[in-house]
Order: sequence, then structure tokens, then C-alpha cells
Amino acid sequence: MNTAVPPAFRPARRIAGIGVSEILAIGARAVQLRREGRPVIVLGAGEPDFDTPDNVKDAAVAAIRAGATKYTVLDGTAELKAAVAAKLRRENRLDYAPTEISIGAGAKQVIHNALMATLDDGDEVVIAAPYWTSYADMVAIAGGVPVPVAGREENGFRIEATALEQAITPRTRWLMLNSPSNPTGAAYSPADYRPILDVLLRHPQVWLMSDEIYEHLCYGNFSAVSPVALEPALRERALVVNGVSKSYAMTGWRIGYGAGPEALIRAMAVVQSQSTSNPCSVSQAAAVEALNGPQDFLAERRASFLHRRDLVVEALNAIPGITCRRPEGAFYAFAGCAGVIGRTTPTGAVLSTDMDFCRYLLEEHDVAVVPGSIFGLAPYFRVSYATAEGELRTAMARIARAVEVLR
Ligand code: PMP
Repeated sequence: MNTAVPPAFRPARRIAGIGVSEILAIGARAVQLRREGRPVIVLGAGEPDFDTPDNVKDAAVAAIRAGATKYTVLDGTAELKAAVAAKLRRENRLDYAPTEISIGAGAKQVIHNALMATLDDGDEVVIAAPYWTSYADMVAIAGGVPVPVAGREENGFRIEATALEQAITPRTRWLMLNSPSNPTGAAYSPADYRPILDVLLRHPQVWLMSDEIYEHLCYGNFSAVSPVALEPALRERALVVNGVSKSYAMTGWRIGYGAGPEALIRAMAVVQSQSTSNPCSVSQAAAVEALNGPQDFLAERRASFLHRRDLVVEALNAIPGITCRRPEGAFYAFAGCAGVIGRTTPTGAVLSTDMDFCRYLLEEHDVAVVPGSIFGLAPYFRVSYATAEGELRTAMARIARAVEVLR
């Protein structure tokens, strides 16, 4: 009889230290509290609260009926690559051939493919902070070392050229930029980009990954521009990342795309060929319709987000101890909570960090928001305003009350 005790599960070094996202943990706790009957309002979601447009759904149904239910070309159908190329030309002044375009299961897979295809152990990736938490974890999984460079609030949460230049070493492979940004909603204008692009021109070993997934969600007279269109010299070492998740309310369909030099696109296809193969055939057909079909609903949705942005920013700024910069885009507000740090809750707990504050808001005031520290900048918290207006108003009142009763 074999009595040997099986060894405990040992995860690979590659994923040691990478936990389940804190955002998901907060979401799970919120669900648990709701199940206990608490009226928790969750302002943590990273997805639009609109539905996928009907013309897109119809295209998917038609694709199923027409038999588009088999493997497709590994990194995207000819139709979808053509639609992406046309979109990049029409909206971004970017000229990419189909062989320079890669389709994946979400922008997330495109980013993962690019990092896996380029990073050797110990290679460094500069990440403009505050950043979408997945960036750092994806770099680590690919064997790289994330090097966050913080954009201070005084600079509109944008990184400064001198800080970027100091962070670059001979081992730096990428700069990851995201405008408009998750989590801050901050966006770069052409003038904001210029000094950053000049730094990149001085460091030819550094590639630019420009995540433009929130480009359609810009407010007022701000409109998003691709840094690669501003500096064509970078085209040979840039990957433009985008997708249909946020613009077309298609998060569940899992279609994202990247545009870059053919050699990079081919290397990314190698990664995808041995992981997931092609993205869902039906979703690709739906994405063709999203990109080629009518775009007028985008303006309506933008107007609705603009209204909710202003509601949230004004409500937050009216709370003593909380400050909130008015963001240019996305559907997030990134509020400073330095004014509540060090204060004491009615039950006697001292709020030492933004994590403490967010936990207090959830546990005692039924509002779920995400601490800034997990995005690489503290003390802040992120509010997603992709939620019904009534809920937003109630949530803002609860946060105001939560701060009011602090000692
Ligand atoms: N980039 C950013 C900045 C995001 O916030 C997200 C979604 N949270 C993604 C990429 C990924 O989007 P998807 O994989 O759904 O295309």
C-alpha cells in the first residue's frame, strides 16, 4: 500500500504572488452582503451598463444561421481585419494592413500575447500609473518586471517626461500607456503626449503599447488621439490596442485587436496558436457589424456618461475631505481621500489607508468602491459611474454620510 502523503499543491513561480484581483474580491464581498439582505451599491464595474446594440446581436444570429460556427483563421477573419483596418484609418489616421492586425479574445488577450511574445525573464516594462491592475500582473506572468511610474494628480494623473526617462534602463522593452485611463479617466492631448514621445524617440529599445480601449468615451470638447498618429516614427515599434468591449458594450463577446509591425503580429499569433486558437467565430462576425455598422448611438451614450460624470464629480467634491479631478474620459472618477486618513469610525477603527476607507464604506455604508492603492496611487478610490443615475445619487449620499460621522 502506498502511504506517501501527496505533496501540497505548488504553484509555478510565474504566478506566485499574483492574487485574484482585489476588484473581484471586493465584488465577491458585495455579492455576499447582498445575499445577506444588505442594499449594497456596487460602483466597481469595469463595463458599460448599456446593452449590446441590436444590429450587432442580429449579425451574430445571422452568422450562426449561416454556419460561421467553425474554426477561423488563427488571429482573426479577413472580414474583421478589414473592418479594423478601415476603422483605424477612419477614426485614428492610422494605416495598417491586415497582416499588421491581430484579433484576440478581448484586448486583454492581445496584451498578453504581446508581452509573452516579447519579454524575456527580467525584461522591464514601464507602466504609467495609476494603472489597470492587470497590466502589472500580465507583465509578471510573462516573466517581466513591472516598473510603475506615477502620474501625480497635479499633472492630471499623467506621467512626466523626466520621471519616464529616469525609469528607462537598457532592459526596458515597453512603455504601457492607457488614454483615456482606467482608473483615473485622465487622457492625453497631443500636447501632453509630445514630451513622452520625445523620450521614446531617444530610447529606441523601448516599444510603445497604447491601450486606446476607452477612446470613444471622451467628454466635452476633448477627443482622443492615438500617439502613433502623432509620431509616425514610432509606428515601427508600437502596438495600438483596442477592442469592442467598452465602445459597443460588448464585454462578454471577447473581441479585442492590436495593430503593429508584422513581425510582432506574427510572434503574437504563435502565442495565441498554442493557447486559445481563434477568438469566437460568432463574436468576430458581431464585431464586424459593430465596427462597420451605424455609429450614431455612441454620441447618445457619451452624453449619458457625461451627465453621470458631472453628477459624481460634483457630489464627491462637495464632501469635506474628499477631492475629485474632473476626468476627460472613460467611466471612472478617481477621488482623493487624504482628508479622511487618520480619522476614526463610529465603532472606533482608525482609517490608516485607502483600503481601510473602502472597507469601511462597504461594510458599514453599503457602497463598494475600489482603493487607489491597488492601481498604484494612494490614498485614492475609484468610482465607476456606469450605473443608473438614481443609484449613483444614493451612493454619493451614503459616502457623504460615511465621512460626516467620522471623528
Ligand atoms: N484595457 C483596459 C484599460 C481595461 O480597463 C480593460 C477592461 N477592464 C481592458 C483593456 C480589457 O478589455 P477586454 O479584454 O474586454 O477587451
